[in-house]
Amino acid sequence: MKVTNLTSGSKGNCTFVESNIKILVDVGISYRNLNSNLKLLESSAENIDAVLITHEHSDHVFGLESLLKKCPHIKVWANSWVWQKITKRYLALANFDNVHFFEYNMPFSVGDFTVTALENFHDSVSCASFILSSGGGKLGICTDLGIITDYQIEMLKTCKVVYLECNHDLEMLASCGYPRILQSRISGDCGHLSNDQCARACVRLASHSTKVVVLSHISQNSNLPEVAYSRVMDELTIANKTHLMVLLSYQNKLGKTITIN
Ligand SMILES: [Zn+2]
Ligand SMILES: [Zn+2]
Repeated sequence: MKVTNLTSGSKGNCTFVESNIKILVDVGISYRNLNSNLKLLESSAENIDAVLITHEHSDHVFGLESLLKKCPHIKVWANSWVWQKITKRYLALANFDNVHFFEYNMPFSVGDFTVTALENFHDSVSCASFILSSGGGKLGICTDLGIITDYQIEMLKTCKVVYLECNHDLEMLASCGYPRILQSRISGDCGHLSNDQCARACVRLASHSTKVVVLSHISQNSNLPEVAYSRVMDELTIANKTHLMVLLSYQNKLGKTITIN
């Protein structure tokens, strides 16, 4: 399989995964930007077969309604509570019936992919990380979580590639001008993973099968890609785990395309 992040951060999230079928994980991207990004990858929105939804926050779903209006053949997979929330906000989706509900920790098939959803601690009605397997390759996409559990590490450590949240630097968060209540929300157990938490998780993943971690959902207000990267590399260096390849994802440009066998 091949995976490319199209956009990542608090203004939108969308990842393109392709094997025999083409999947988007989240649609926090406009139809126009989705198509222009997919064109760079020699694809288009009409070629998408399925969408997996992590949760209802708008940075993950704001492009879903217009995508499904133009491409109603797309199958959507979501948690049932999350879908209820989405259809209350995006009313045209209430009549969309090509939706399938997954249960956490219960593998399901999407074309040639086997997908397992893991439940995150996050302040949405419910929130998923996904593990996607196809043709011997295994990929984890894990963002929007206040803490990462031992169970999630157990599941992710068998993935060759993991997109892992590296949302904020704690000092930058404290001085970025956000109200105190928002700072507590972001750094709390149901908020977002900090650079420190991500760095420690990378050390644990590097001890197993994970070869590549892509730092994801990097905040534009309380983090910088170079700050996130150097925090993770420092922790890997101390732990003697620098064999782990660390890449970045971006809000405004495509990430690197990774082939996973
Ligand atoms: Zn969220
Ligand atoms: Zn988010």
